[in-house]
Amino acid sequence: MRVLVVEDDAPVADGITDGLTSAAIESRHVATGREALSALSTYRPDVVLLDLGLPDMDGTEVCRAIRAAGNVPIIVVSARNEEIDRVLALEMGADDFLVKPFGMRELVARIRAVNRRFDPAAREPSAERRFGDLVIDLRSQRVTLATESIHLTAKEFDLVVYLTRDPGAVFKRSDILRDVWDTNWYGTTKTLDAHIAAIRKKLGSSSWIESVRGVGFRFGSPT
Ligand code: CA
Repeated sequence: MRVLVVEDDAPVADGITDGLTSAAIESRHVATGREALSALSTYRPDVVLLDLGLPDMDGTEVCRAIRAAGNVPIIVVSARNEEIDRVLALEMGADDFLVKPFGMRELVARIRAVNRRFDPAAREPSAERRFGDLVIDLRSQRVTLATESIHLTAKEFDLVVYLTRDPGAVFKRSDILRDVWDTNWYGTTKTLDAHIAAIRKKLGSSSWIESVRGVGFRFGSPT
């Protein structure tokens, strides 16, 4: 995941980019609206973190221009804690809004949340992933197996969506924990194992999700 940090206050920007690096999120910092707009095509960020108070352009204009240029999720950052700002931010096409000062944990959680919501497949109106009899509907968040409804918890569903993003690819345990469980994960990987076991049971076969010893898991299909 790549985050474009648009912020004219250098110490603030440094704090943010350092914090993102600690959370294993790649970022690039620009200090003006014009640089932000050109970085859309050169850096191709997955999320834009946009300070509204910029020296060269009005932040709301920058936000509208980014939205007009494409689908990248925008989190607007403002020092002004007023209800009107939040409403305005959403009206100008922002996806989330943070008021300064904010904590890194909260920022990282918001970034991961908007990025997940903007999973490219989930943007399509009838996004479905099909693997034989198994159908995952990303819009309605329903899973069916041979037309029978499978009831997954929200986290189990997130996990299935995550693994089926690239079927056959091996996902590392640490990456899964970081990406599916919102913030930095300091806990045990037993939670992950418990979720995998529950999904396998609900799908009636353990071969939908294969364990890769010492690494993690991959989505497969029962033969
Ligand atoms: Ca500023």
